[in-house]
Amino acid sequence: MNALHARYPFLSAARDAVREADVEIAAVVSSDGDRHPAVERGVERVRRALMDGTVRPPEDGRRWNTSAELLSYPVARLLVSLLDAPGAVDKYASAEADTAYETFTYDFEHQDDRTRETIDLDALLADFDLADAVERRREGFGVAVGTYLSLAADLRGDRWRLAGRRLGDGWVAVTAAELHELLRESVKARVAADLPLDVPEELAAGLADEVSELESSFTDADFSHDIDTLAPPLFPPCMKALVERARSDDALDDHSWFSLVAFLTGIGLDADEVLSFCAVESGSQADRVRYRVERVADDGDGQYAPPSCATMQAYGDCVDPDERCESITHPMAYYEDALADGGEVTDWREREA
Ligand code: SF4
Repeated sequence: MNALHARYPFLSAARDAVREADVEIAAVVSSDGDRHPAVERGVERVRRALMDGTVRPPEDGRRWNTSAELLSYPVARLLVSLLDAPGAVDKYASAEADTAYETFTYDFEHQDDRTRETIDLDALLADFDLADAVERRREGFGVAVGTYLSLAADLRGDRWRLAGRRLGDGWVAVTAAELHELLRESVKARVAADLPLDVPEELAAGLADEVSELESSFTDADFSHDIDTLAPPLFPPCMKALVERARSDDALDDHSWFSLVAFLTGIGLDADEVLSFCAVESGSQADRVRYRVERVADDGDGQYAPPSCATMQAYGDCVDPDERCESITHPMAYYEDALADGGEVTDWREREA
């Protein structure tokens, strides 16, 4: 087991490393006494995936060793299979894929970094059996049309339609950035494969406490979840700041986009409304915003809330908190309180109509 396996636990080499280490997952989940570190990290992996859209370690500074990081992946797959939460598998797989995308694009750009083990494009393509389906070109890459169609099937936006792309001799031309997005889809498909698992009784019993803990953490945010009013002057300071940055083309980090999109979706905006409100024109940024909206959209049960104040603070996205912030722990709770105190408000969408 090495650091690369821990960062990319879905790779074949990582699976082999777990097998070679001869670790019994049953022994990990049913260990007596303190919770096994891999189980603790597995719980955080799923919690972060469903609440924050990432599987990076929590922002509270807790860290796990390579073995626990790697083993937390099979544990997380068991947990997400046991959860009674609609859309959990898809959101979990998306979060794993998004985190992997951030990691491998960073690795591709830092191949000469001697302080860490990195993966390169050829190794990633080989692991996904894509080496023969992707060819390098003077500019960009070619992807075999069948592979392109299957990887781009869930990507939204006209630019992914085959009709609008350069196609020759069964190969579709893509840029390097587009190839990376297709690889993210490969990761998502691999992570989602076979989920939910048919979890044996013994393992389900061993993880019963963790499943209850996760299910309760999705429903304990202290707000009603049925807000459907767009009143920007009443937004919490953090969201006002993110909206302003999005509108002024200030490059938002992925986690900041996630927080903003989750908040706007949580108050009832659809993808077109999010794009219009944030003044995002068509193009790749619009496609990414649409992708995020689809990912965070819940089924009305409010299980996939935007990040809490604690997470926003950890991200550095809690800016200029005001007096109302002292009485809440969640940006949605702030907004709900402000709406209740604000009297009659005009919905931004009505003004724009
Ligand atoms: S305290 Fe919470 S609601 Fe207030 S600005 Fe910070 S993150 Fe936003």
